[in-house]
Amino acid sequence: MQTIRGRLTAWYATAITLTLAVFATLLYTARRRASYDELDARVRSEADLTAGILMEISRTGGVLVRQDAQGRPILTQEIAATLEAVPGFLIITHSSGRVLFASPDARALTFDEFEQLRRIVGVPPARPQSGAVRIDPDGPTVRYLIRPLTDAGPQFGALLTGADPAAAELGPRQVLTTVLLVLPLAVLAAVLVGSWIAGRALEPLGQIITEVREIADGTSLHRRLAKPMVEDELGRLAQTLNEMMVRLERSFSALRRFTADASHELKTPLTVMRAGLERALATPALPPDALPWLEEALQELNRMTELVDALLTLARVDEGRAPLHREPLDLRAIVDEARETGELLAEQAGVTIAIETPPDPLMFDVDRSRMRQLLLNLLTNAMKYTPRGGRVSVRLGHENGRITLAVADTGIGIAPGDVPHIFDRFYRADTARTRTGERPGAGLGLAICKWIAEAHGGSIEVQSRPGRGTVFTVSLPKA
Ligand code: ADP
Repeated sequence: MQTIRGRLTAWYATAITLTLAVFATLLYTARRRASYDELDARVRSEADLTAGILMEISRTGGVLVRQDAQGRPILTQEIAATLEAVPGFLIITHSSGRVLFASPDARALTFDEFEQLRRIVGVPPARPQSGAVRIDPDGPTVRYLIRPLTDAGPQFGALLTGADPAAAELGPRQVLTTVLLVLPLAVLAAVLVGSWIAGRALEPLGQIITEVREIADGTSLHRRLAKPMVEDELGRLAQTLNEMMVRLERSFSALRRFTADASHELKTPLTVMRAGLERALATPALPPDALPWLEEALQELNRMTELVDALLTLARVDEGRAPLHREPLDLRAIVDEARETGELLAEQAGVTIAIETPPDPLMFDVDRSRMRQLLLNLLTNAMKYTPRGGRVSVRLGHENGRITLAVADTGIGIAPGDVPHIFDRFYRADTARTRTGERPGAGLGLAICKWIAEAHGGSIEVQSRPGRGTVFTVSLPKA
């Protein structure tokens, strides 16, 4: 079971079922014992009463036994009629062992069942004796009492009174039936009530999960969880998470500040170094051997400056200190501005370039320099990852009610496994190649492009087939 709510409900239902089962067993046992005691007392009093009647008649000299037509001894009519009223089983035997009287219930038994009782009473005990006997393998267990009847006259053997426990009022069987009927209903009620209680108790936990999920994207660390009203376990959990977020926010912002400060501090020395190198390169008396070294140093310095710029931009974005200066502008102007750089890059890379813009103005509230940066990043990548002889195209237009700016190339493409990560910071799909310096880069360009597109309310998508080419499409909402 995947949820705490489900588990709690299952435990709750199991606990209720076990409690009810134990309660029912105890009730059944107690009820059984009590009903057997009642039955035994009833059987005893019936025996005493019958013996008392017989003794009384015998004492006053009344006739108790006569002979029937076949000459067998039986009780006289009047006494038999009196004893007919005794409930349950009553059997009275003659001293010879013959049955003198059997009550209606006893007569209703089958021959075998009756024989079982007759055999018990056939051996008159010296003193009253009680017991239980199952008179039929599937039938009831009869609780009985036998007592000698010699004190009522020498012609008597013994008497047996007995009763079937099923005859007892609210017998144990009824208790069992009731419990078996009530148990499923009680378990169902336990499941429903348990699920409701667990749901209510865990509701704040669901809220905490939703809030933490919203905060955990890294840019909302300043937010805090709403403190639950009660200082229970969930309240303490919320507080602990809030404390953790305070610490996380502190270390995140320390990291951002460090990146921003370090990039900022690096900018000036880099500018000074570049100026120095450029001056050295312009020196007429420069020894020819030194020229390639200085040029290589200048190239590396330019790359480092780009990296530091990118780091500073992203650090400012994270700190929320990278505002856009938006103004209504024809986007065709930005594409046209990039045309010259694009053609220059294409020439260096040995690829052809095609730039398409629509005939009508495409107005949009845009930060001019950021949008130019986005387009140049995509163009530089397209040139960098397209082998000589390839083709790069830039197309500004609109589709499905949105403005689209697509940069397509016929280059090396991106492996499907890399596609979900290329907009992540420092992610580079072709690390091996870069080490050789063939396609240098730091993996920050697309992260910046993504930020610029999103900061303008748009998005950036990529479609790529390895070996065939790549299309990056920036889509912006129409004003
Ligand atoms: P980099 O400085 O490495 O170019 P980016 O963030 O601009 O960093 O790009 C991230 C990765 O995406 C690159 O390393 C490259 O693997 C892949 N990529 C970007 N543009 C293209 C493209 N036009 N064709 C093929 N792969 C590309």
